[in-house]
Parts: sequence; C-alpha cells; structure tokens
Amino acid sequence: MTLHGTYDKDNIFAKMLRGEMPCVKVFEDDVALAFMDIFPQAEGHTLVIPKDVKARNFLELKPKKIGPYMERVQTVAQAVEKALKPEGLRIIQFNGAPAGQTVYHLHFHILPVREGDTGRAHASGTPTDTEELQALADKIAAYL
Ligand code: AMP
Repeated sequence: MTLHGTYDKDNIFAKMLRGEMPCVKVFEDDVALAFMDIFPQAEGHTLVIPKDVKARNFLELKPKKIGPYMERVQTVAQAVEKALKPEGLRIIQFNGAPAGQTVYHLHFHILPVREGDTGRAHASGTPTDTEELQALADKIAAYL
C-alpha cells in the first residue's frame, strides 16, 4: 500500500534536501525547500517540501509541523502569483499512488492556471530545460 509504508530516506526529494541531487531552487529556509517541477504541468509549476520530517504524505506530518510548513506553501504561492500573474492557481497534494503520488516525501504542488489552459499530464513527458526553469525560479524568487 503506497498510502502506508516506511519512509525511504533515499527518495529523490530527500536527496535534494541533502544536496545529493540537483534542483532548481526557488526558496529555502529551515522549514521548507521550494523548487521548480522538472516535468511542469504548467509554466511556473513549483513544489514545496518540508524539511526535517519523515512524512511520506500529508497524513504523516506531525501536527506541530503543519502550521510553519503551510505558511511557506502560501508564501511561495503568493510569489508565484505575483511573478507570473496567472488567472488562477491550483494548490494540490496527492496521497498514495492511486491518488497520483509518485514521490514519497510530502510535497504541495503550486500550479499556475491560465484562462482556457487545460494543462499537461502529471509527472510525465520530457524534462524541461534547466535554464528555462532557472529563469522562472529567478522571477518567482524576486518576490520572496
Ligand atoms: P507527485 O506525483 O504528486 O508525487 O509529484 C511528484 C512531482 O515531482 C511530479 O510533478 C514530478 O514531475 C516531479 N519531479 C520528479 N522528479 C523531479 C526532479 N528531479 N526535479 C523536480 N521535480 C521532479
């Protein structure tokens, strides 16, 4: 069951937190790390992950960690909105493979939505060029 299980300390996001795996950083403090999704479903698709936790999903996050983490999710979402000015924003989080989860370290997706845009498939396709993602990350970071 992917909804339950043991936290894998070598999951890709844990490796990013340890600096063992590259990511295009948008924001980092002692609570959270935000970076660009490499398979963006829309331009500006950003992920926010909590630090210092072994939570595979939202159900496993210790209550005292929720507040500070959600504050960071909101802060990054506000910066995405200011930088890219989409008409809408989806803030999404998946728990378990049947729900769409593919990486088992808790994360929230921040997805800018343009009027009439149907978006791209989740976690698939070819990775977006790092330079392109870096330019978006810089734009967003300017509001943080
Ligand atoms: P989820 O399917 O909700 O677990 O989301 C995992 C997300 O991580 C997907 O949107 C993937 O596109 C994204 N992802 C996978 N590998 C990387 C990577 N190396 N850098 C950035 N994002 C990634």
